[in-house]
Amino acid sequence: MGKKHKVELHEAFVWDCDECGRENLLRALPAEPPPDNEIRELLQLGPFEALPNPDDSNWVRVAEIVTCAYCKAEFHTLPPWIKPGDEGEIEEDTNI
Ligand SMILES: [Zn+2]
Repeated sequence: MGKKHKVELHEAFVWDCDECGRENLLRALPAEPPPDNEIRELLQLGPFEALPNPDDSNWVRVAEIVTCAYCKAEFHTLPPWIKPGDEGEIEEDTNI
């Protein structure tokens, strides 16, 4: 056997389908950092606390709607940084 090629690893989220129960992957897409005031809100920093070094931060975005690769059921996503029960704001925004 020859030398193995290398594959690039990407960050991803795992989610479980509520219809068929199988595990799906959702690749995390790189994103620009949000404005400073949004970072403070997300990290619950006070007005005089230092923001994290941008070089140490890795911002990603995720799809709002995902489709199960197996049974094709569609779901809205609940990002891991939003606690269950706190999702009211998202549901209002996705009223299409
Ligand atoms: Zn499924």
